[in-house]
Amino acid sequence: MKIGVRVLVPFGRSKTYVGIVAKTHKGPLPTGFQIKDILQVLDTSPILLDSQLRLWQWIADYYMSPIGEVYKAALPSGLKAEDGYKPKTETYIRLTPQFRNEQALHIAIDILQRAPKQQKAFIDFLNLINDEKINNYSLIELTRDELLNQGHSFQTVTALVKRGLLETYEQEVGRLNHGGEPHLDKIKPLSPVQQDAYNQIQFSFLKKNVTLLHGVTSSGKTEIYIHLIRQALEQKQQVLYLLPEIALTVQIMERLQRVFGDRLGIYHSKYSDAERVEIWQKQLSGHPYDVILGARSAVFLPFQHLGLVIIDEEHETSYKQQDPAPRYHARSAAIMLAKMRNEELYTCKVLLGTATPSLETYHNAKTGKYGLVELFQRYKGIELPEIQVVDIKDLQHRKMMNGPFSPLMLSKVREALERGEQAILFQNRRGYAPMIECKQCGWVPHCQHCDVSLTLHRSLNQLTCHYCGNTYQVPSECPNCGCTQLQTRGYGTEKIEAEVRDIFPEARIARMDLDTTRSRQAYERIINDFSAGRTNLLIGTQMISKGLDFDKVSVVGILNADNMLNYPDFRAYEQAFMMMAQVSGRAGRKGKQGLVILQTKSPDLPLISQVVHNDYPAFYRGLIAERQQFRYPPYYRLVYVYLKHRQETVVAAAGVEMGALLRQWFSGRVLGPDKPGISKVKSLSIRKIVLKLEPSLNMAEVRRYLALAQQQIQQDKRYSTLQIHFDVDPL
Ligand code: ADP
Ligand code: ZN
Ligand code: ZN
Repeated sequence: MKIGVRVLVPFGRSKTYVGIVAKTHKGPLPTGFQIKDILQVLDTSPILLDSQLRLWQWIADYYMSPIGEVYKAALPSGLKAEDGYKPKTETYIRLTPQFRNEQALHIAIDILQRAPKQQKAFIDFLNLINDEKINNYSLIELTRDELLNQGHSFQTVTALVKRGLLETYEQEVGRLNHGGEPHLDKIKPLSPVQQDAYNQIQFSFLKKNVTLLHGVTSSGKTEIYIHLIRQALEQKQQVLYLLPEIALTVQIMERLQRVFGDRLGIYHSKYSDAERVEIWQKQLSGHPYDVILGARSAVFLPFQHLGLVIIDEEHETSYKQQDPAPRYHARSAAIMLAKMRNEELYTCKVLLGTATPSLETYHNAKTGKYGLVELFQRYKGIELPEIQVVDIKDLQHRKMMNGPFSPLMLSKVREALERGEQAILFQNRRGYAPMIECKQCGWVPHCQHCDVSLTLHRSLNQLTCHYCGNTYQVPSECPNCGCTQLQTRGYGTEKIEAEVRDIFPEARIARMDLDTTRSRQAYERIINDFSAGRTNLLIGTQMISKGLDFDKVSVVGILNADNMLNYPDFRAYEQAFMMMAQVSGRAGRKGKQGLVILQTKSPDLPLISQVVHNDYPAFYRGLIAERQQFRYPPYYRLVYVYLKHRQETVVAAAGVEMGALLRQWFSGRVLGPDKPGISKVKSLSIRKIVLKLEPSLNMAEVRRYLALAQQQIQQDKRYSTLQIHFDVDPL
């Protein structure tokens, strides 16, 4: 028996579960309950290293989440199954050839009118494969499990196959990428400024475990990482390279694979479970990958000699998992992982890289907790993009806007396309229109389960709730007044795309948002097409802002800066700055200076001028003073307490009691309970309590009291079905 091996254990009268051995001991047997025997030991060697187990425990404690939730998030399902499940092939589904066109699809949906379950499954299928690429249907790969995972029964999906709409095919899995021979000689030499930064990082690592590389967009941070990785490999150390966004792994993967070949492994949630199991096991074997490139969940992989962690775009909020628990921040988890290594007499260093550091990180760097290395020049001295601000309020007044576009935006995009260059348009909302509304009485359709209005998705002619995923038919008339004129309000990426297609019929347009990137292949296709110039106008949500590197983008359009600002959260300003600075950074990366057209209704805000002048220090100074004054991070630690219940009255009462209880212990540090902006999600009414805690408090004690409060409230019979959860260091 060893720590980290899987065992089969009996539970209750008849259940058996797979568990992981967390501790062995020779002491006296615990008393107070009946002890059962382990049924079977499933592994000869551990599938979990000691360091991983310790990280799990830290995450469970720090983020106040049961360790079982960490286990669920960390381990690929294949490793949780009873028989060490390892399929050789997987079942895929696709449209039958006769249904691979738009018209046939409409007919298909009609045919299914009388079989609502099948119709729903079929529409979900279309959603998953992205209906945009109608002619490429045969290229799209989707496993049957992915469709079943949307909550459809096996029978429903089989019925669609029997009807001849879908067909299944088997495909071999275990296609770990074979990156070929490494070519370390292909690593590009650093420029003198980059070399200087590299040396400073090395020097900083002598004194600090964590160092921030603050380098403007396109300064060559990625090239510097590559040099650091090479050095780690020379010392026989492994490297973990984290990225916030799967779209980004596609591009960086190619750059790293060119030099590190098959020493590089990729790991993220769009990989099939079987592939993830294989990578996991390879990491435990005698020939693990030396470099792992991955999104958030890659921190959970086994590493035998981790020596360097790179957290690229460290400011990205998608590093924090929101739902479900554990609500952990991958940056904090990775820093902790490295720290635990150091306690084992390893040395494991962490490099945080970004053009726009999070306030927390920059503060840590400025106060000496982290090392700080700065890089103010783009590679080859290319200028940062010029940013022109357009006042859309004024233009609307003078009736000069063409839908969401100003004349300047349209002419600059047109010129770029005519010169054979590319353009990116950024709109931070997906779907067709964020809202539809009755022209006569102003009625707006809402989700039945959530306190939000519904988003129109025109390609599927559906209303969708972006909080619970439920879909609704578009009403033909207003249920309130019977008026048949329902108009759309606002612009989502889908509508922007439709309008752009009208204005630039010649352009080769692609859209990248959550709706068009359900599969790994979809991501790769959109990015590769744009990189290779097969498309020349890319429309997208914040997904396109994150560190993508395209050579020929000369114009970037930000359609509406105000969308990002009018958001009731203390981080709205920070988020808006970062998003705009990052999107702007996509312009003019190679060869020449780029241009950004920034449309806003409030051109006089200090934030806009900070973005225009790329003045991070001014942005930081303004915000950090406010954070201190109003007791926010990085000066204070936040914990949000959420209470959820089906009945509004129950959650209201529980909120008041929980608030009172917490005030007994934490007095003035407790705010609320409040009804949050979106006060009902998935049929559960919500209350939120905020704790602002000074850093000198003992967090272990704080957590103990919070757990106690939770226990005490839930002991009350009235609250037996109340859900309480904590969000520690919320974003
Ligand atoms: P960042 O990560 O800071 O945004 P990148 O590393 O992506 O910057 O560099 C921007 C572009 O400049 C990339 O296309 C990269 O290949 C190129 N580049 C940067 N440094 C060098 C170098 N030393 N030699 C050759 N090309 C470089
Ligand atoms: Zn009406
Ligand atoms: Zn909903």
